[in-house]
Amino acid sequence: MAWDFDTDPQFQELLDWADDFVRDEVEPLDLIWPHLQFTPLDDTRRAVVDPLKERVRQKGLWATHLGPDLGGQGYGQLKLALLNEILGRSQWAPVIFGCQAPDTGNAEIIAHYGTPEQKERYLRPLLDGEVFSCYSMTEPQGGADPTQFKTAAVRDGDDWVINGYKFFSSNASTSSFLIVMVVTNPDVSPYQGMSMFLVPTDTPGVTIERNCGLYGESDGQGSHALIHYDNVRVPDSALLGGEGQAFVIAQTRLGGGRIHHAMRTIGLSQKALDMMCERALSRQTAGSLLADKQAIQAYIADSYAQLTQFRLLVLYTAWEIDKYNDYKKVRKDIAAVKVVMPTVLHDIAWRAMQVHGALGVTNEMPFLGMVTGAAVMGLADGPTEVHKTTVAKQVLRGYSASDDLWPSEWIPRKREAAQAKYAQFLELEVGNL
Ligand SMILES: Cc1cc2nc3c(=O)[nH]c(=O)nc-3n(C[C@H](O)[C@H](O)[C@H](O)COP(=O)(O)OP(=O)(O)OC[C@H]3O[C@@H](n4cnc5c(N)ncnc54)[C@H](O)[C@@H]3O)c2cc1C
Repeated sequence: MAWDFDTDPQFQELLDWADDFVRDEVEPLDLIWPHLQFTPLDDTRRAVVDPLKERVRQKGLWATHLGPDLGGQGYGQLKLALLNEILGRSQWAPVIFGCQAPDTGNAEIIAHYGTPEQKERYLRPLLDGEVFSCYSMTEPQGGADPTQFKTAAVRDGDDWVINGYKFFSSNASTSSFLIVMVVTNPDVSPYQGMSMFLVPTDTPGVTIERNCGLYGESDGQGSHALIHYDNVRVPDSALLGGEGQAFVIAQTRLGGGRIHHAMRTIGLSQKALDMMCERALSRQTAGSLLADKQAIQAYIADSYAQLTQFRLLVLYTAWEIDKYNDYKKVRKDIAAVKVVMPTVLHDIAWRAMQVHGALGVTNEMPFLGMVTGAAVMGLADGPTEVHKTTVAKQVLRGYSASDDLWPSEWIPRKREAAQAKYAQFLELEVGNL
């Protein structure tokens, strides 16, 4: 019997430690330094943050998804999922544990495809938590369909020269380097004609034209950049992987990124459910607690069931990634996770907000931020509609068309076949009557 839903006791101890540590030491950072988790540390923040990171390292929980050769524990995706459910409650926690998006996915592709020099220059400081990185793929004219991308690099001697615009490049302005997806051969299919480059953010010609903020962030707080690459010259050694390999690399990058977002979304949704339950048990109206009203009980039951279904799908998918070590093989379930994620967070956060009454919609409670977060989950790393198409296509691969006018489950024909199969017994039955 191989199915097992237990966490091994030693790792559970570490999770219990992480749970207390995040609650007591890390969540307060969200309140004193909101939105600064991706900004390089000044002396004040370093005095607090470095010792916290050190405690995580001492517990062996730093960058747990990476192998020991890269400074992690090689715990894999399933254990990372269990840890990320805890970290998802806090903006700062992933940074303190060395597993924040988009840097985890970026580190993964440099580890997979980078040359030794690229690993030394970009991966090492990234894993040490000393720098941040940016994944620059989406373009202003459309992100969901990468075959429309126009940003291009052309060879010039030993260099490449990049020109074009990228949109919604998260953390570009605080990053040390950008991973840019560009057309390198317009004469072949985009699947073979695009490549990835590692570009230091301070390279001449890289201009951040504006930073978009999400709803609720004030002007100047935004971290999603419109970048103009204007004759950006990089050497051949800036190419990540082979020429024309961008789509293959992107699949690795985005597969990891999507499941990591889902793991953290479990934590955030659980936080909303926790708040809903506390409020239901605390608030009295029309003669009884909210917790005693059927409508509120339905909110709680639906939220619990939705979250548990989602959690099992995420953990199962993480387990599959560990088992097959091949994102392509697990594509269907990663896409399914991505499809379900925004609705789960949205529904639970919305119900929790409703149960809190007027207080719920104020900026004294975190619910509208969670609802915005749910909308973001429906877009970042590709819109829900596109992932539904992926799921459907993958599911359909397991089927073929009926070779007849009538479906293969057409009852009259099946009944006839069943009667033919057991004809001798049926005749006997008739004979016995
Ligand atoms: C918070 C946040 C952070 C992000 N960070 C990054 C980042 O770091 N780097 C980066 O490169 N990008 C990033 N993105 C961009 C993200 O990947 C794109 O927003 C996404 O791929 C959709 O592209 P788009 O916004 O151009 O929408 P479009 O491509 O214009 O699509 C708009 C809408 O059209 C519909 N649609 C699109 N295609 C289909 C289809 N095939 N079938 C049915 N309906 C469809 C969907 O409703 C979709 O939402 C981020 C986005 C957000 C919100």
